[in-house]
Amino acid sequence: MDRGDGGPDTEGVTDTDRDTDPATSSDPARTPGARPAPGATADLVVVGAGVLGLATAWQAHREGRTVHVIDRSDRPVGASVQNFGHACFTAQADAVQDLARVSAAGWTRAAADAGFRARRPGTVIPAVTPVEMQVIEEFRAHRGPEEVRVLDAAETARLTGAAGSADAPALTGGAHLPRDMRVNPREAVPALARWLARQGVRFSWSTAVHGVGDGVVDTSRGTVRGAEVVVCPGHSLRDLLPDLAVDAGVRTCTLTMALIARPDHTPVDLAMLTGTSMTRYDGIAAMPAAATLRGELAAREPELRGCDANLMATAVPPTPGHPGGVIVGDSHGYDTSPEPFIDAPTSDLLVDRAARYLGIRRPVVLQRWQGRYADSPSRNLVLHRPDARTTVAVVTSGIGMTLSFGIADLVLGGGEAPAF
Ligand SMILES: Cc1cc2nc3c(=O)[nH]c(=O)nc-3n(C[C@H](O)[C@H](O)[C@H](O)COP(=O)(O)OP(=O)(O)OC[C@H]3O[C@@H](n4cnc5c(N)ncnc54)[C@H](O)[C@@H]3O)c2cc1C
Repeated sequence: MDRGDGGPDTEGVTDTDRDTDPATSSDPARTPGARPAPGATADLVVVGAGVLGLATAWQAHREGRTVHVIDRSDRPVGASVQNFGHACFTAQADAVQDLARVSAAGWTRAAADAGFRARRPGTVIPAVTPVEMQVIEEFRAHRGPEEVRVLDAAETARLTGAAGSADAPALTGGAHLPRDMRVNPREAVPALARWLARQGVRFSWSTAVHGVGDGVVDTSRGTVRGAEVVVCPGHSLRDLLPDLAVDAGVRTCTLTMALIARPDHTPVDLAMLTGTSMTRYDGIAAMPAAATLRGELAAREPELRGCDANLMATAVPPTPGHPGGVIVGDSHGYDTSPEPFIDAPTSDLLVDRAARYLGIRRPVVLQRWQGRYADSPSRNLVLHRPDARTTVAVVTSGIGMTLSFGIADLVLGGGEAPAF
């Protein structure tokens, strides 16, 4: 990249929201820890307007820094709007529970600022076998009854909305994780971007970043300089910083997703995990009986096992331009250059199984899509500081909605990634 052109800052950058630019010169005194950057147009430049980039921009804005967000799309369309909107703090590893608490507080404050809904309905987990119940009991013993409420079958069915349904599976009992939150990703992420723009955070949409180093950001519309630069490109890390992506084993995870119509009996704030989820989320999967459950699921649900499913569902209320419904998924495939195709039998399987749990006899599919997020087999977070002004942050697991505000705090505070 060209770091020494000496030309005017942001030359050629014709961002769509230039009139939201609050400042054209930085005040280094407002940038904790960063030395003055010659020609910087913002205290902080953020690459990527997904949830992680926006949470970072939001936090920096709260700290009084001037912020410039750059994204190659013309609105958020990445993993951050493709997901369940499930902030499942409780199920995360013990090592990130503090991070999860910071993230929960961030979601609550950001929602109040930007005016999107962030509810705390908790997560319901229906258990259909004694082994699933054993995992839940162990998790309650480990985390305590405040965090993991053990339910009987009737209370579980009330929370899934399946009570009285002849189609739903017979339940052994279940759990409720009351700390967990749910947002509508299609509402929350764009709303946060709009609110930040109204506060004077500068957005350069439709602007691809080709290179970053020492406060200089080389874009398809010219060069931008910041006292600090935080890079949050999601699974496109491979395009922008290929060596780092290869070192960290970053690949793309593809997920089969669907939106089905929500019948009146399904709670509008539903967030449901199932047995497959208990074997995937680090916090619950660490329980001794989870290994037995893995074996049981392989025998009981070979098709779900075959597509590496995390069978779950969240309900989202209608918003302008979006019908709302129940988001169901998901399968997992891993590749560096994934095929774009949705496998119809896998999609039908996930819809069928999720609908059964919810007592929905004839699910009406409104949308199907393939979601994509960054994954690494060796870590859940890439947090890398290649020089004094640059931080690269990529969540490499399907937990970026849950932890984004906590990670933003870590990024801006100069902290290290916890081992998880
Ligand atoms: C189907 C699905 C379900 C999920 N469910 C959940 C869930 O329930 N709970 C949970 O916690 N997590 C969930 N996740 C994971 C979560 O969505 C992600 O971890 C999170 O959204 C990642 O956010 P991000 O900002 O890093 O990435 P993204 O949202 O992908 O944003 C990256 C942004 O960077 C931009 N960009 C990339 N490269 C460049 C470049 N060179 N120049 C300019 N811009 C660039 C892209 O345009 C994009 O806007 C799910 C993900 C998927 C796909």
